[in-house]
Amino acid sequence: MMVIGVEFRKSPSGDGERVWGCCGKMGEFNGGADTGKGPSDLLKEQWERVTRTLKADIGEAAFQSWIKPILVRCIDGNVVRMSVPTRFMRDWVMAHYHDKITDLWRAENAVVAVVEVIVQAERGLQPKAPEAIEHTAAKEAVIERPVENNQPKSLSASLDRRFTFDQFVVGKPNEFAYAAARRVAEASKRPPFNPLFLYGGVGLGKTHLMHAIAWHIRQCEPNHTVMYLSAEKFMYRFIRALREQTIVDFKEQFRSVDVLMIDDVQFIAGKDATQEEFFHTFNSLVDEGRQIVISADKSPSDLTGMEERLVSRLNCGLVADIHATTYELRLGILQSKGLKLGMEVPPKVLEFLAHKITANVRELEGALNRVVAHAQLVGRDISLEATQDVLHDLLRANDRRVTIEEIQKQVASHFNIRTSDMHSARRARSVARPRQVAMYLAKQLTTRSLPEIGRKFGGRDHTTVMHAVKKVEELREHDSSFAEDVELLRRMLEG
Ligand code: ADP
Ligand code: MG
Repeated sequence: MMVIGVEFRKSPSGDGERVWGCCGKMGEFNGGADTGKGPSDLLKEQWERVTRTLKADIGEAAFQSWIKPILVRCIDGNVVRMSVPTRFMRDWVMAHYHDKITDLWRAENAVVAVVEVIVQAERGLQPKAPEAIEHTAAKEAVIERPVENNQPKSLSASLDRRFTFDQFVVGKPNEFAYAAARRVAEASKRPPFNPLFLYGGVGLGKTHLMHAIAWHIRQCEPNHTVMYLSAEKFMYRFIRALREQTIVDFKEQFRSVDVLMIDDVQFIAGKDATQEEFFHTFNSLVDEGRQIVISADKSPSDLTGMEERLVSRLNCGLVADIHATTYELRLGILQSKGLKLGMEVPPKVLEFLAHKITANVRELEGALNRVVAHAQLVGRDISLEATQDVLHDLLRANDRRVTIEEIQKQVASHFNIRTSDMHSARRARSVARPRQVAMYLAKQLTTRSLPEIGRKFGGRDHTTVMHAVKKVEELREHDSSFAEDVELLRRMLEG
């Protein structure tokens, strides 16, 4: 193919800086002659519309990190060529957004058949810092270096004041995790176990315990550097370092801390490059005798999409599980929080809440806050009736709540397979059938939509869930022992 014009020029408008001229066959370019606009302007406008739709679809943070840095280079026949600054970004964009981008381009410009993404550094243009990401992830990022405070801006958020050991109510479900956290916080020399791996469902106190460790060390070992951040933030910082070619600084910063805490590590499942970097950071810190604390929503072995060698490292130290709350713990937490709210909450109300709001501590706290806030607002004492009234939506949702995780666990144990097989890609009948049963029960017993259920089963499509539901219904009709199995599971889960 003959290329008619190769021209790289900056568009005069501010935003247009990031969009370059056309190197394609002008004749094939959509509508250039009719509008009086140059091809680069049209290309730019089309790309802007594509990105607008994409942004609405994927959200601001993902947009800022993956789409904004893309430069449209040219259109060459039916090929739109775009560039990103690093290979890692290209792989990511190709894996996650390429299909969407191609569809959108085609909708904008009928000539486009192929979208190419190449790696090319921007000459003379520094990629902008992804402020939006910094912003969204900032609440998760804390570095505590009390002696001097010369950290980069992105690491200087603070720990939650309320998340200390003495604000943590200990009961059977969390006593082991609590003891382990305390032990780590109080060990001034060698780590007692490395890493400390805390896991449990949402809202059960993992972040609280991690902050508590950080507060304690900060107080007792003021010279120690404690770095706390979410795995998400770790990834963003890593990617930014790659993009800005500051990876050496990045490594140095992470490898010079005394205690590294990474919250919600499940976030980097399936994110290979980030895992690789984390693995090396991890090893280097452990070799130096520095403490590592990790949290996740599952045990290391149940985390899917994690490299084997990383899983085995995570399993090396102490793995502590925070179990679902019990009535006693919930009541204890309500009593402790009730005292701090400056209003008398009748024991009957606390008991009622502990009985009814069972999902997690976060929800329990939220319920109590709502009841107290309402009473203060209307200037009345807190009563059971008012409580029921204020929380009627929440109470209804809690009435019959089974989580998909519980269903997966129960079904897996019933059929003697691993819970992780609920998310795995294995198709053997021995795991596929139980997985279908679990999907079926998730549809029956929860209010989750098909796509939501699919996502909880290793990111499967909603049509897979639909198929599973149909299949199980079919089997129930024709196979009475199968039907009994499903009934039994349903009763156990509802009971
Ligand atoms: P996770 O990180 O496990 O999702 P968080 O640590 O954010 O959960 O806890 C959610 C909320 O519940 C926080 O406000 C936390 O202070 C509170 N919380 C959780 N467990 C306890 C506990 N045992 N005692 C007191 N508060 C708790
Ligand atoms: Mg948390």
